[in-house]
Amino acid sequence: MTRIVHVNGSFLPAAEASLPIMDRGFLFADGIYEVAAVLGGRLVDSDAHLARLDRSLGEIRIANPHSAAAWTALMEELVRRNAVEEGLVYIQVTRGAAERDFGFPPAGTEPTVVMFTQTKNILRSPQAETGIAVVTVPDLRWKRRDIKSVALLAQVLAKQAAVEAGVGEAWMVEDGFVTEGSSSTAFIVTADRRLVTRPLSNAILPGITRVAVLRLAEEAGLTVEERLFSLDEAHEAAEAFITSASSFVMPVVRIDGTPLGAGKPGPLARRLRELYIAEARGPA
Ligand code: PMP
Repeated sequence: MTRIVHVNGSFLPAAEASLPIMDRGFLFADGIYEVAAVLGGRLVDSDAHLARLDRSLGEIRIANPHSAAAWTALMEELVRRNAVEEGLVYIQVTRGAAERDFGFPPAGTEPTVVMFTQTKNILRSPQAETGIAVVTVPDLRWKRRDIKSVALLAQVLAKQAAVEAGVGEAWMVEDGFVTEGSSSTAFIVTADRRLVTRPLSNAILPGITRVAVLRLAEEAGLTVEERLFSLDEAHEAAEAFITSASSFVMPVVRIDGTPLGAGKPGPLARRLRELYIAEARGPA
């Protein structure tokens, strides 16, 4: 099946899509992206993803080219044209193409919009059954990690460290504390069953899945603590997991080669994954 992408207002086959080499996304990573899940052909939590897109664009002063309603229509159309049942929708907006110059381009330069879909087994991921191992790496990123910028070099290198170690994710560590995964939010469960994740700040991306999982945990009567946790504390945790639009809730069973707790997915991680999936599926 021909993959259909969206570029600056047009739907076209991916092989026919092109962008100017002067696009600032390419030259400066001067742009923002979003990724939302698709389940049963329907978008998951897309309003929250679009709100984060709008905020990220505002923080770097790119005018949002579409209303939330227009974005939603574009996403739904792309999902339909690619017949995606389960997977992801990717959106990228850059400051557009102009003669290369670090300062902003001349007024009137239009942002570049690129969208595509990816098919992915999120529900029946074998890793969800076994859990994943993580390795830790220093967090080498800039100081505005709350902005979902396409400047992802530190995360590319972090994820490659995980790939080369044969594990599923890299946790980034700063001053002895875990910030987050290369493309996920990090959680631990303490021995007395408190759920711990880092509070929102400029140091981490405000995960959309994170918000939903914290709410589901509170509704299920769990004690939630939004606070820093150290790598030492993570090693002593009863359970750990990551969350993201592309993995939902994924149990973590080893950190830097050391098994966590029982070395298999913990009951709270499993329960929160089930609750999240039930909600993401929406009313039948
Ligand atoms: N942190 C980082 C650094 C990420 O790249 C992601 C994935 N977008 C997340 C957290 C998880 O965010 P979300 O739940 O919105 O996918």
